[in-house]
Amino acid sequence: MMMTLMGLCVVKNTQAQDKCGAQMIKEAIIAQNPSNALVLKQQEEQIKQRAEAYQRDIEGVKMKTTATVTVPVVFHIILTSAQQTALGGISGIEERVYNQIQVLNDDYAKLNADTAFVPTPFKPVAGGSQIRFGLAHRKPDGTSTPGYEIRTTTSASYAFPASGAKYTNQGGLDAWDPSLYLNVWVINLGTSLLGFTVPRSLLFSFPSQELGVVITHGAFGKRTASTTPYFISGIDKGRTLTHEVGHYFELIHIWGDDNGLCPNNGGQDDGIADTPPQANSSSGVPIFPTYDACSPTYPGIMFMNYMDYSNDTALYMFTNGQVARMHSNILPSNSQDYTLGIHPELLDWPTGVTNIISDNNFLLYPNPSSGKVTLSLAAGSGLQQIEVVNLLGKIVYSTQAQSTQTNYTIDLSLLSKGMYVVRCVFKEGIQTQKMMLE
Ligand SMILES: [Zn+2]
Repeated sequence: MMMTLMGLCVVKNTQAQDKCGAQMIKEAIIAQNPSNALVLKQQEEQIKQRAEAYQRDIEGVKMKTTATVTVPVVFHIILTSAQQTALGGISGIEERVYNQIQVLNDDYAKLNADTAFVPTPFKPVAGGSQIRFGLAHRKPDGTSTPGYEIRTTTSASYAFPASGAKYTNQGGLDAWDPSLYLNVWVINLGTSLLGFTVPRSLLFSFPSQELGVVITHGAFGKRTASTTPYFISGIDKGRTLTHEVGHYFELIHIWGDDNGLCPNNGGQDDGIADTPPQANSSSGVPIFPTYDACSPTYPGIMFMNYMDYSNDTALYMFTNGQVARMHSNILPSNSQDYTLGIHPELLDWPTGVTNIISDNNFLLYPNPSSGKVTLSLAAGSGLQQIEVVNLLGKIVYSTQAQSTQTNYTIDLSLLSKGMYVVRCVFKEGIQTQKMMLE
């Protein structure tokens, strides 16, 4: 077993390019100390057993629950001014922050529109999770945050493993307490590597301040009518973060990172029972059914799995087995990421906020919301009208303000999910805030 893994550090991956650094991280850890290969193997076995135990408990109804957990996310964005401009400046970056959270929520809930493309033989195993994501609105010190921070750098790009980006005193931005926040760093990794992740199982080799996900700026967010066109070719639907967060919750690549081998021939599996064996990563936009040496008969390989390397348009499912593995790492109270899902207050704006970003002197919560939203503002604000506008600029909700009222409940539950702009018309002018319905 150890020989197989050690072989990986000398046999160069045969992929033309690595889209994700999951295997590079493991190779680097082994290069540091060959005995780490055994530790990695043991970690993988533990994760697998934890997931299997979880699945047994679910089936035995010991843990039956439909409750969701919401993970507070913070984006640490470290880019040059030119790179920020390529993303559309501050407003373009903000747009990507919002639509990236929406992609995560859609994909993890199996509410992504392209779930309809899951081929019939794979439909019974396609899984939606109970994990949701929200922008953090409270920093570790309790003050307010829009859920992202931007640092302008002069470093044009970061080479893997980009540790410098994770420390403020090295020109990057420090992680926020990784037991409370999912830290995502957005930097320029060049054009082939899209992202990589340090999950808790690698803590034996990494400091906890480096826990989290790194993605390259050309793979950040989703192309929409209003985002600027800069995206890495084929990577414009926000699926890089879906994939990397899968690694954060301890999923591994669907082909098992074994350079073309099959599980029945000395190769690694992904440890998930309901994904078909697969020899190597997919690329581009494969057509169903696609066969390979490990899955030579119908229905072939699951190239549309988020943990493969197909283009974003060709990725649209997790399996139930993958969902169980992710759940086993965050839902049970003894799970490694349990504390990430039990602090919904970090998603709310602090009360008495005076220093929130300049165009937001009204509060909107919860945001994201499932329909009923409270808009709150100071007495004597001079508010005259509240309007909600969809992304096409159409007013979909409107109400007159009352001069003494400081809290408004807006019911948007009949609107389709997605991003909206809440516009407050004051005597002195108009102020807006983005809001997500999910
Ligand atoms: Zn990966």
